[in-house]
Amino acid sequence: MTDGSGSPGLYVHVPFCLRKCRYCAFYSVADLDSDAAMRFGGSLLGEMRMRLPSDTVFPTFYAGGGTPVLLEPSFWSEVFAAFPPTSRLAEDAEVTIEANPAAVGLKDLQDLRRSGFNRLSIGVQSFDDALLEFLGRVHNGAQAEEMVRDARKAGFESIGIDLMYGIPGQTREDWLKDLRSAVDLGAEHISCYSLTVEDGTPYGHSVKSGDAPVPDESLVAELYRATDELLSRAGYQHYEVSNYAAGRKWRSRHNTAYWSGAAYLGFGPSAHSYDGRSRRSWNRLGLNEYLEAVESGGLPEADFENLSEGQLMLERIMLGLRTSDGVDLSKAGFEGEADGALRNMFANWVSHGLCTVDGLRISPTSQGMLMADGMASSLAAILDL
Ligand code: SF4
Repeated sequence: MTDGSGSPGLYVHVPFCLRKCRYCAFYSVADLDSDAAMRFGGSLLGEMRMRLPSDTVFPTFYAGGGTPVLLEPSFWSEVFAAFPPTSRLAEDAEVTIEANPAAVGLKDLQDLRRSGFNRLSIGVQSFDDALLEFLGRVHNGAQAEEMVRDARKAGFESIGIDLMYGIPGQTREDWLKDLRSAVDLGAEHISCYSLTVEDGTPYGHSVKSGDAPVPDESLVAELYRATDELLSRAGYQHYEVSNYAAGRKWRSRHNTAYWSGAAYLGFGPSAHSYDGRSRRSWNRLGLNEYLEAVESGGLPEADFENLSEGQLMLERIMLGLRTSDGVDLSKAGFEGEADGALRNMFANWVSHGLCTVDGLRISPTSQGMLMADGMASSLAAILDL
């Protein structure tokens, strides 16, 4: 049996939501009934039984979506029981479930805690009711606060709050108020995402037709800096471009593994998997296509790709530069020296406050993480990727 360090993390995609939020491009449907839950649950367990490796200790488990707390807490006990007899979650595994404040109460949270989850990631987005309404969220600010308190009562020690900035109508003061609320609630982890306009979403359509404004770019940049200032003062580490943790132990291990190129196995419609070497695959997107594949005894894999050395290196660089730990080019696959054009570029970045450099390790500052894509493109050009 492996010790869990090189083993894949596990991800389960639950494709149901109470209602689609206006801006959301994730795959989910808003018509969960008991039949759909039963069929999906049966197929998910079936897929896990077919694909979970034996003799493996898994370091992390992440239930995302969608709104995974819409499934009965008892279902998750069945999921953990579906592991092969010689495989299990590590004793200290991080076991996360995403939650929507409108979808669960104290009793559900207690049951989820008992079923094995030890980390809760709550999609709050804002505590401001007018902004929540603009986003098409099904909960209000008071419900979100109550949920965090209930999660504590239920025994969750690790609570993450997702917030969103750049929402049309949101002022700098509104945003700082949301951040302070998350801090005051004692969240161990705060994710701050800027609102993006996604094609095919109701918000995307409204922008196209001129009925809704796009996020104000200069305000978004200002709020990014203000976020870093406020949360740093409150003791949080800005460890990834959109993520803050109240200490290293509260970083998302599931996400950190993904950013560092570790293997993961994804289950459910649209879920991706990666073998940690070169093969990436993804499941069928639609719920019905997924159910049909599994119910007929097959795997729901839609397709796969084998990444070349160059693609892998570029990906490691891009993901690494989004994190404060950064990227060591020698570990990302680069076999040369930091000389010539590379050295000049490093010096330029350092002089602009984008990163520190130690040998071939580039560690971005907060401002550097925001420029990760541009820095990665410049590196790709020099390294001929
Ligand atoms: S609850 Fe989350 S996954 Fe569901 S529609 Fe809203 S943003 Fe998307």
